[in-house]
This record gives sequence, C-alpha cells and structure tokens, in this order.
Amino acid sequence: MCSTASLPESTHFCLCHTVWPDAVPAPRLPQLRQLKGRWFCVCPNCNFYIGGHDGFENSRAAVAMWQSCCRPGDQHIQTLWIRDYAAQGVKTEAAA
Ligand SMILES: [Zn+2]
Repeated sequence: MCSTASLPESTHFCLCHTVWPDAVPAPRLPQLRQLKGRWFCVCPNCNFYIGGHDGFENSRAAVAMWQSCCRPGDQHIQTLWIRDYAAQGVKTEAAA
C-alpha cells in the first residue's frame, strides 16, 4: 500500500542540485510517500530519502526532518547530506 500527500509550500528543495549542479537539471521538491503506514520523504531526482528503515508515524514529522536535512546555504548540513546519501547507497546517474 503506497500513497502520497501534498507538501507545504515552504518545503526545501533537495540538496542534490546544490551538490551536483551539472548532473541535476533542476531542483525538485521531495515526494511524501506512505509505505506500510509509515511516512518517508523521497527526492524524485536522486532518490535521497528521509525516514531511515522505519519511516515516520506522520507526514509532518517526515517533512520536519527533511527541512533540517536539506536546509539550503549551510555547509555543515550539506556535508551531512552527502554523508547520509552515501550511507543510503542509492545508485543514480547524478552520483556516478
Ligand atoms: Zn535529490
């Protein structure tokens, strides 16, 4: 069972566009996905996601975590994003 929900207008773009400006054509907002009753935020460009293995109990918590992990203009946040992205082991063209 998988469903989506709308995001608040103030949601940050994924940092993949900042990290790989040549590989990612345009910044994209994450998609909210519900999987087995748990919520995740997923970038449609690079598949970076928020929620770990278990996700969040509600969509608002998932978005709140996305906001802290993808805050723009913060070098430390960007470093953490790159670390988390590598840890997720997502294979994309952008990362190649
Ligand atoms: Zn991304």
